[in-house]
Order: sequence, then structure tokens, then C-alpha cells
Amino acid sequence: MTILSRTVLAVACATAALSAQAQDKVLNIYSARHYQTDQALYDTFTKTTGIKINRVEADDAGILARLKAEGSASPADVVLLVDAARLVTADTQGLFQPIKSAKLDAAIPANLRATPTAEGVAWTGFSTRARVIVYDPLRVKPADVATYEQLADPKLKGMLCTRSGSPPYNLSLFSTVVDRVGDAKGEEWLKGLVANMARAPKGGDTDQIKGVASGECGVALSNTYYIGRLVASTKPEDRAVMEKVRVVFPNQSSTGTHVNIAGGAVAKHSKNREAAVQFLEYLSSPFAQDHFANGNFEFPTAKGVVTNNAALNAIGGKSFKAENVPLASVAKNLTKVQQMLDRVGYK
Ligand code: FE
Repeated sequence: MTILSRTVLAVACATAALSAQAQDKVLNIYSARHYQTDQALYDTFTKTTGIKINRVEADDAGILARLKAEGSASPADVVLLVDAARLVTADTQGLFQPIKSAKLDAAIPANLRATPTAEGVAWTGFSTRARVIVYDPLRVKPADVATYEQLADPKLKGMLCTRSGSPPYNLSLFSTVVDRVGDAKGEEWLKGLVANMARAPKGGDTDQIKGVASGECGVALSNTYYIGRLVASTKPEDRAVMEKVRVVFPNQSSTGTHVNIAGGAVAKHSKNREAAVQFLEYLSSPFAQDHFANGNFEFPTAKGVVTNNAALNAIGGKSFKAENVPLASVAKNLTKVQQMLDRVGYK
């Protein structure tokens, strides 16, 4: 082979690689969703649209920090977060670009989306999860754990198990309680939780449920999808855990159970806006909404989609009263509540 033909071949190869790249549309998704079953959700999108998905996973705080550090050079197209307060915070920090989508307007109720501006809507909630109380029926009466407020009652001394106070699931719940009862009573309540702890906070929600089943804890907090997974598990040891515990949707006769949102947005500096919007619209489709319910035991948000998951139904998730607190006030309280947690020694 001559030098010239080698050069021609090299140029031809480079051109072929470039055009293949142009054809391979890729969407970069920064996701705080940490659920293995989501792979099916991404695969189906790629199969239907030909758009490949490149996923970067981190927790909510990690994703926000990364987007800020990358600035306008960020390759992120879509941002998925698993907490309403973090969605509000990210929007306030200018990390999203508002979008206009008739499909999303029609599918998702306005109260589960950012407040619309002239430019559009910054983020959309695609699923919800309730934060419920799990208890040991041998040690605790259901009437003693009917509300979040009761978790601070000295009756439950030495029984409460939770994950750390600072991650979004607890922080958002605590923010709504503080919003409802006021700062002084809110901090008193947090102090009561610490006084009732069976052990220093550790592990995830599933560890707290297992702690109740093992007898180490009398009462715990958990998101509903972790419970759904155990109920529907094919492992006998998981189902045995659920046989030993009971689940309460708190505050049913008052303010309603705390519900959080998992949602998404188009990243501020996305160069693939059209495909990013297409992906968000896909998340509101009946297929994706069913996936949230039956793949990860979340509650779908699209209008007309009914949760009909056997595991969620079994724990009382078919219909319950959800709390109605403006998301902005939850986000507004986060720093204050974090300071309260530090003061009361909630690790
Ligand atoms: Fe989680």
C-alpha cells in the first residue's frame, strides 16, 4: 500500500466514523434515580426513537454540584432528580431551561410541575412516593403512630429508627412539618425524634424496615417504593420481613401523608433540546407511567393513569390522602431545618 492510498484510507475511515457519530443521536441524562428497573425505561426509548442514552448517576446534591461546576460546557441534556425541594433549588439556581410541551401540559397536573413563566415550565414531576411509618405490631399500637407528630411522643422512647436526617427524603418531610407547626414546635419535634431513637441513624430506608422486623426498632420511616419491593420480592426472606411489620399512611385524618416527587427537566445548556423534550414527554406516556408503578412501585402522575400495583395496594397505597404543601415552602425551609438538625444532634 502506498503512502497516498494509506492516507486516503485513513481519511475515508475518519469520515465514516464522523457520519456514524452524526447519525447516533445521544442524549446525556444526569440521573439521581437509583433504580435498576429503570434500564427497561431507557432501552424502550432508544428502541422507539433510535436515540441512545448516556447516563450519569449521582445523588441529587452530586448532580447539582456537577451541573454548576460544568457550567455552559455541561454535556447534560436531561436532569432527573428524586426530590421536589431539589428540583425547586436547581431551578432557582438556573440549572434548567423552561420548555413548552402541549403533551406535558395535557398529561401532568399543574401542581406537580414548576410554575409556568413566559418561557415555559422548568420541571415536571413524573412519579410520586409517600413517606410512611413502618411499625412492629408486637410493640406498638397503630393509634400511637397515626401521625408524624406522634413519632416524637415519649411513648416511643428507644424505638425510632431512621436513615440520616440530611438526605432529601427526611429533609423534605421535616420541612413540611416545620412549615405546618412553626419553627419552635418543629425544632422541639425534631428533638423528640432524636430522644426516641433506638440507634444512631444509619443505612437506607430498607435497613430501617429490616430493623423493625428484627426487633431492633419499633418504628421507622420509609418511602413506599422500598416497601413495595419487599412485598413483591421473590426472596422469601424479604416477604418474611414484611410479615413482621405493619405500614401506616400518617396524618390521614388531618394534613395527609407526606408525598415527594421524582421529576425531570431539560438542562440549562443542553444542545439537544428537542430530543430532551421528547424524552420528558416519553416519561409521561402510559408505558413509562406504568413502569413507575409496576417497575419501581411509585405512584404515576399522568392524568387518567391509575395506580394498580398489587404490592402498593396491599399496603394501603390504592387511595390515601396526600399532604398539600406548596413545594416552594419546602425548598425555602431546607437550610433552616438542616441547622435545626445540627442543633438537636440529628446525625
Ligand atoms: Fe430512594
